Amino acid sequence: MLDFNYYVRTDVRFGKGQIKSLKELVAKYNRQALGQLGEIKELDKPNVLLVYGGGSIKKNGIYNDAMEALQGCKVCELNGIEPNPKIEKIREGAKLCKENDIDIVVAIGGGSVIDTSKVVAAGAYYDGDPWDMVLDSNKIGKVLPVIAILTIAATGSECNKNAVVSNMETNEKLGTSSKEFIPRAAICDPTYLFSLPAIQTAAGTADIMSHTFEQYFRKDTGAYLTQSFCESILKTCIKYCPVALQEPDNYEARANLMWASTTALNSLMSCGTGGAWTCHPIEHELSAYYDITHGVGLAIVTPRWMRYILNKDTVLKFAQYGHNVWNIRGELDSIDGLSKGELSIIANEAIDRTEMFFKACGIPMTLTEIGIDDSKIDLMAEDTIKYNDLSNAFVPLTKEDISKILRMCL
Ligand code: NAP
Ligand code: FE
Repeated sequence: MLDFNYYVRTDVRFGKGQIKSLKELVAKYNRQALGQLGEIKELDKPNVLLVYGGGSIKKNGIYNDAMEALQGCKVCELNGIEPNPKIEKIREGAKLCKENDIDIVVAIGGGSVIDTSKVVAAGAYYDGDPWDMVLDSNKIGKVLPVIAILTIAATGSECNKNAVVSNMETNEKLGTSSKEFIPRAAICDPTYLFSLPAIQTAAGTADIMSHTFEQYFRKDTGAYLTQSFCESILKTCIKYCPVALQEPDNYEARANLMWASTTALNSLMSCGTGGAWTCHPIEHELSAYYDITHGVGLAIVTPRWMRYILNKDTVLKFAQYGHNVWNIRGELDSIDGLSKGELSIIANEAIDRTEMFFKACGIPMTLTEIGIDDSKIDLMAEDTIKYNDLSNAFVPLTKEDISKILRMCL
């Protein structure tokens, strides 16, 4: 097991009706932040920047719930945040923070809204163009407190230090991160997921699974507990995504998916392991050029990546995945001692089942289906390598490898 730092700061309020704690959380984390920043004003009713997307929260009533809890605060709004959030909105938000003396940012939505809020919160203290902080995380300094109200189970942004931002002018979709980005509090009410369109439920689940795969398919460091947690998250997604698709208001299914999203990417799943991610860097290029749904891109890339890297050195890990997650050869207590040929059969079946699972959830499973041809494949492969170091991945990949994987996705 490798050494690790595990930093946890988010005050998670999980369950139906937890929005009632928003008032208390806003006051508490405003006061705490003011103390840390050495400012003297003491406000229980701070100036709030409310960030949200294209309007789903107005239809399902979450907006009204939040506004009720924020009564007495001065509330400014930054709305219309699109999926794959764009830098222009962040510039607008940073300006709003400065002009309105914003104390705290409340994000209501998914990864796009929460990621935007993090960079806006840093932009409040940054004099230059916020894009600088995306290109270079060392430029992130002070950050206003962020409270996340989660409405889709997917990214884990509600409790993590990452933000992913797109610049469509330059076809760049890049991640940046800071410990200061980690939300002070997250309100996770599973009933808020009831109104999700089926494709968002499915794509969100594919994202949760991809976060887990990126941390599970690693060289063996003896981090047995962490790897077992990963298997549990994958089993949870496989069990509950079909239930949520069938019965959108099934509380148990939504609650398990919601908690899976948070735990898959709050750094717990990489404790004691090492190495780089692969499918996310590749997907970010698909989104950067074609603005596609993140989870759909991941579902398309993942099984092809698995097939591409399956070889005599990786077969044991894939067979472990097949046995422990998909219960292939479930009659065996352990796959120890199986021949390479038997392991290969389990591994291949596990990859097939992964692909069939995404398809059964209603995700389009080829690039062609979502209107992407081969014209930019080499460019995207080159950019993947330009922005990410994949030499330390589970299986290191070159740009030629990535082109081949993307062609397998057509
Ligand atoms: P999202 O892009 O935030 O939202 C996707 C869509 O779902 C929006 O159209 C939104 O509509 C709708 N929606 C959300 N909640 C809803 C609800 N309860 N009812 C009905 N519709 C709802 O989705 P996401 O998958 O969470 O975020 C994706 C972004 O996060 C991508 O940019 C991805 O690269 C990034 N990401 C970040 C991390 C991280 O660690 N920070 C990790 C992985 C990915 P409205 O706009 O109308 O609300
Ligand atoms: Fe993701």
